Amino acid sequence: MNIEATTTLNNGVAIPWFGLGVYKSAPGGETRNAVRWAIEAGYRHVDTAAFYANEADVADGIQDAAVDSDSVFVTTKLWNDDHGYERTLAAFDRSRSLLRRDVIDLYLIHWPIKGLFLDSWRAMEKLYAEGKVRAIGVSNFLIQHLEMLLENSEVPPAINQVEWHPFVLQQPLVDYCRERQIQLEAWSPLARGKYFDNPTISGLAQKYGKTPAQIMIRWDLEHGVVTIPKSVHRERILENSRVFDFSLTEEDVGALDALDRDERLGMNPSDLDN
Ligand code: NAD
Repeated sequence: MNIEATTTLNNGVAIPWFGLGVYKSAPGGETRNAVRWAIEAGYRHVDTAAFYANEADVADGIQDAAVDSDSVFVTTKLWNDDHGYERTLAAFDRSRSLLRRDVIDLYLIHWPIKGLFLDSWRAMEKLYAEGKVRAIGVSNFLIQHLEMLLENSEVPPAINQVEWHPFVLQQPLVDYCRERQIQLEAWSPLARGKYFDNPTISGLAQKYGKTPAQIMIRWDLEHGVVTIPKSVHRERILENSRVFDFSLTEEDVGALDALDRDERLGMNPSDLDN
């Protein structure tokens, strides 16, 4: 496996296992530079969202990196205020024009907004049928949301992007997605840096001669989970990509799994159901 290695989604589209996240990368030079540095380091996958207000800067960074822009897999997401059939179509057009692409690689429903996400999904199915997006998926969907979607849709989601790190394992959701060929993708794979000094993580970092961030990213890859760590610093962008020259033993993966305590740093999607 290397930095460009891909997995195949349930519709045959290849997505790189590893990419750059740009949540809270400031619009303008900060995002533009981060994206350029990442691509120069070999990244071929960027995860943005309408909500991050930096889609145009992602496009600028890809342009600056002077690679064929089609060689970079770009994900963006439908924000919560834009749910509904017509609004989804309009939001997609805005994102596509800010990203300056004819075709978006992956379009996700950002959060499962109750009573609305099925209409949005119908619009996403239309965008997919028209070839404007290569794959459609969801984010922050729990089993109950996925069940409702699968029962009421033509096209199953290719991806579920959820908060996922050793402190929030969500094994039933992982199993559910795997059984239905819905690829899991980890957001906040570094737990936002909160647990780098956890003794298990720092101990493994020492054992492998790697950094805590690299241990956490490698753990995603060992589990077959797509991962999109964020940084705006060139040296960290490089550091986070250096995870393809080692692997964790099964026992060490298990030691990280054992850190699970169902602790989320972000919102629990079930709060949206109330
Ligand atoms: P993350 O776990 O990737 O952590 C990022 C933070 O970790 C950085 O801001 C920095 O403080 C620190 N960091 C990064 N690399 C480091 C290194 N090598 N050494 C030390 N510190 C380092 O958190 P995230 O940004 O929340 O998640 C990653 C991406 O996932 C986002 O940028 C975004 O693209 C996506 N995301 C999606 C959702 C969603 O609802 N779908 C929510 C949050 C994030």
